[in-house]
Amino acid sequence: MSKIYLKPEEMPKKWYNILADLPTPMDPPISPFTGKPVTFDEMKAIFPPHLIEQEMSDKKWIDIPDEVLEVLSIWRPSPLIRAKRLEEVLGTTAKIYYKYEGVSPAGSHKPNTAVAQAYYNKINGIKRLTTETGAGQWGSALSLACKMFDIACRVYMVKVSYHQKPYRKSFMRLFGAEVIPSPSDITNAGREVLKRNPNSNGSLGIAISEAVEEAAQRSDTNYALGSVLNHVLLHQTVIGLEAIKQFELVGDYPDKIYASCGGGSNFGGIAFPFLEKMLKGDKKTEAIAVEPASCPTLTKGVFEYDYGDEAKLTPIMKMYTLGHDFEPPAIHAGGLRYHGDSPIVSYLYNKGLIGAEAVHQSEVFEAGILFAQTEAIVPAPESSHAIAAAIKEAKRCKETGESKTILFCLSGHGFFDMGSYDAYLDGKLSDFEYPEEAIKESLKNLPNVSLK
Ligand SMILES: *Cc1c(COP(=O)(O)O)cnc(C)c1O
Repeated sequence: MSKIYLKPEEMPKKWYNILADLPTPMDPPISPFTGKPVTFDEMKAIFPPHLIEQEMSDKKWIDIPDEVLEVLSIWRPSPLIRAKRLEEVLGTTAKIYYKYEGVSPAGSHKPNTAVAQAYYNKINGIKRLTTETGAGQWGSALSLACKMFDIACRVYMVKVSYHQKPYRKSFMRLFGAEVIPSPSDITNAGREVLKRNPNSNGSLGIAISEAVEEAAQRSDTNYALGSVLNHVLLHQTVIGLEAIKQFELVGDYPDKIYASCGGGSNFGGIAFPFLEKMLKGDKKTEAIAVEPASCPTLTKGVFEYDYGDEAKLTPIMKMYTLGHDFEPPAIHAGGLRYHGDSPIVSYLYNKGLIGAEAVHQSEVFEAGILFAQTEAIVPAPESSHAIAAAIKEAKRCKETGESKTILFCLSGHGFFDMGSYDAYLDGKLSDFEYPEEAIKESLKNLPNVSLK
């Protein structure tokens, strides 16, 4: 059988916190207002105490509340699948497995953290959450999670996606959320952008500023972020923890793990539990974060302190970054557009504990279509970055005759991404070499942080 299922009662009951296992401490997030490390009290303006504790915790295993497990069990445990048909078509000597997170109601891994975040806000008496969304996957996940715990949700959606992906907007509204195109005229951050450029298409950085500004100003409202932060990656470790049990069932273990990397949450989610074993000296696995060549944060960015958003309201974090005002070329259709990256993923990459690869958009869509035609699942273009890198490795194994075991995270399905598939099939997508000049420009605007 190529599909490996766990029983409902085999779902992980604890999240794995990799902060407990890092060889040296990470550099702390810095407040943009005081220039000093962010305090618990400062974070309380927008996050509930449990999530702030998790953000800074050095406890290795953290209990998943029963109420969260109950909602996760709607679609978890998710299947681990051996890609036998893909292996056959490639003629590879490698074995290829994928963990399929598209079985969630929103179609990606993102509800794994949305549910936990909505729950902790609910028990802290919060009535509303604000957030941003780019392509709409995070907004969909949070809308769903808020409905499960009966809190209101307002989503600032990057204006260009608001118009290009109307069904993601419909999905969020169906689950009761209010969706506002960003930049909007209801926040200072939005009005400032519109004053400078009335025709702004918006960006993730602008939408984050709007959502954070609103949450900071209202005591009944908090903010939720779908990637990058430590607690988000923590919640995603259910992916890798399940995969470890599934590999035990078939007596196999991955030599290489590939996951697409936008902010780093599905990568951290699948890879960290395997890295736990490696850091202990148990078993060796190479984990590789795969990013677009047109937004190459890890492979071409710098490891420096930078802002997380446009209006400089969020903490300044030490991470790989292309500069907070970097915008990927308009031709880029595959998601993963954030200028920065998870501080933990950045730290691990800087220490040489994980790898990174950039892939071009044409090979991403080519790989996604080959995967759909062999494994019969339409992948999200984001996930296809991981597929493209896994296929490259499988082809390399064929050349050398190696019998490696490859695992990748199929982070979501692509049912809402038909527009970009059409663009590819109609020959309208081209490759874009890495935008060196744009990156050089935006890297001039990094903040000056001295840790004294
Ligand atoms: C959001 C998203 C990603 C990228 O985000 P990460 O935080 O890096 O995981 C990848 N795949 C899918 C399907 C997504 O929705």
